[in-house]
Amino acid sequence: MSGSISQTTNETIFTKIINKEIPADILYEDELALAFSDINPQAPIHFLVIPKKPITTINAIQEEDKALLGHLYWVAANLAEKHGFAKDGYRAVMNCNENGGQTVYHIHLHVLAGKAMGWPPYQNKL
Ligand code: AMP
Repeated sequence: MSGSISQTTNETIFTKIINKEIPADILYEDELALAFSDINPQAPIHFLVIPKKPITTINAIQEEDKALLGHLYWVAANLAEKHGFAKDGYRAVMNCNENGGQTVYHIHLHVLAGKAMGWPPYQNKL
């Protein structure tokens, strides 16, 4: 998928998942958010928490979205508790635009767990 196309149309594969037009392993759903397993996991546990509202990037978050963003973290924390990895720990991050590694232009919280994460998250030196 081309980032530039999805950025302008604001319509991504995640819209199709929200609308149940394509399948996903859904872990949680409410009126504001959806959580589902990442199709290409980067950790033993890797799922995405997304708003149903199609916000393209972190940069496009509006003042009215502030509570929604908190809700995404609340969903992540509840799923961490439910799936038993809250205490061990996890990473919950959003990538933004090209340098952040964003490929799908509908904001999503990556929740990665099940092993110790490295830091910093990039491989090359500054
Ligand atoms: P990012 O690179 O931060 O934009 O992350 C996009 C994530 O979406 C990647 O981790 C992909 O593996 C994941 N992804 C793309 N398509 C699907 C899909 N159909 N179902 C689940 N995860 C997906």
